[in-house]
Amino acid sequence: MANEGKLIIFSAPSGSGKTTIVKRLLAVFPRFEFSISATSRKPRGTERDGIDYFFLTQEEFARHVEAGDFVEWEEVYGGACYGTLRSEMERIWAKGNVIVFDVDVMGGINLKRIFGENACSIFIMPPSVEELRRRLEGRGTDSAETIDKRVAKAEFELSKAGEFDHIVVNDDLDTAVAETERIIGGFLASQR
Ligand code: ADP
Ligand code: 5GP
Repeated sequence: MANEGKLIIFSAPSGSGKTTIVKRLLAVFPRFEFSISATSRKPRGTERDGIDYFFLTQEEFARHVEAGDFVEWEEVYGGACYGTLRSEMERIWAKGNVIVFDVDVMGGINLKRIFGENACSIFIMPPSVEELRRRLEGRGTDSAETIDKRVAKAEFELSKAGEFDHIVVNDDLDTAVAETERIIGGFLASQR
């Protein structure tokens, strides 16, 4: 890809606190920019198109797949597709910024495989599956059925943690953010 720069990849079972941690990091590192994914799921809560995701219909998503517009894409929870648009990565790198990804576990492994040394992949681990469920329930954005699906998938996702460059346990949020900052600081320093 033209203008290839650096990227930081976050993956975790849904509810681990990945989004919370990424938001904190974006406030600390001014040259970090979040890669806005495309998805075929509907917006929830306060989510806005072009800010949290590019919300597409199934048909629009399929057209981008056919056109080869995605660097990677996955059907994450039965029916809902999520993908990284090449155009989004090029837009961020063209500004000289570091791309921050919040992708599912298979997406994270694929991005690391594609971008190798330019990528730092971090797995955010919940303290336990029970706590993961509590956080999803506490977030109050998903139906009981959706929460069951996400928790069921967590076992598989946790088995993939070893394929990431780093694992951060998100028990105490401040500790997890500090640990993540330390890892990223080391990665950026090693790249100079
Ligand atoms: P993800 O992006 O991994 O799906 P979120 O960032 O949305 O997860 O976090 C899920 C819920 O857990 C949110 O309500 C968030 O406020 C809460 N949360 C995040 N980190 C912690 C933590 N360390 N301790 C307790 N609750 C947390
Ligand atoms: P949510 O519906 O909770 O926003 O996201 C569901 C899952 O999709 C999360 O694990 C999230 O990281 C993942 N996801 C979001 N964007 C992408 C993407 O572009 N590619 C892949 N592979 N997964 C994504």
